[in-house]
Amino acid sequence: MTIDEFANEVAAFPWARPVFRVDMHHTWFPSHADWKGAESVDGMWTYHTRDRNFEDIAQHVSIAPDGIIWSGRDWNKTPASIGCNMNANVFMFETVGNFDEGNDRLEGVQLAAVVAVIDTVQRQFRLPVQALLFHREVPQTLKTCPGTSIDKFDIMSAVSQRRRDALTA
Ligand SMILES: [Zn+2]
Repeated sequence: MTIDEFANEVAAFPWARPVFRVDMHHTWFPSHADWKGAESVDGMWTYHTRDRNFEDIAQHVSIAPDGIIWSGRDWNKTPASIGCNMNANVFMFETVGNFDEGNDRLEGVQLAAVVAVIDTVQRQFRLPVQALLFHREVPQTLKTCPGTSIDKFDIMSAVSQRRRDALTA
């Protein structure tokens, strides 16, 4: 899906649960260099269901290096996000890449899609930009997810800017 197609899907989707938070992750693997489109999405599905025993792929959407948004788990299902009994009523996405310092960079069309996904879901449920959680923020993990090169304030600022732009358009 493009950003516009995603916005249309979110608006038309028969939501059966409220969402009160958006969780951001990076895949780490596949990185940008490993990305093979549908084959990579299938690979994540296989890994999550077979090796990690999830009932389905963990995330609701995956955001590819080319900015395309791939659908994953049913949006009405709780995601396998951060655990800690904190997954209910969450919309979870994976940013494809390894965004730890010195590896991939989140920029251009992929950054625009990340900001659009957060903004679109938050607006659907009338949430503030602060209704965003980075995986690394929970003390139960040692992961750097969604990557040490990504600053949460920068992401929230970009979402806020996008929301202002929409209001003045
Ligand atoms: Zn994560």
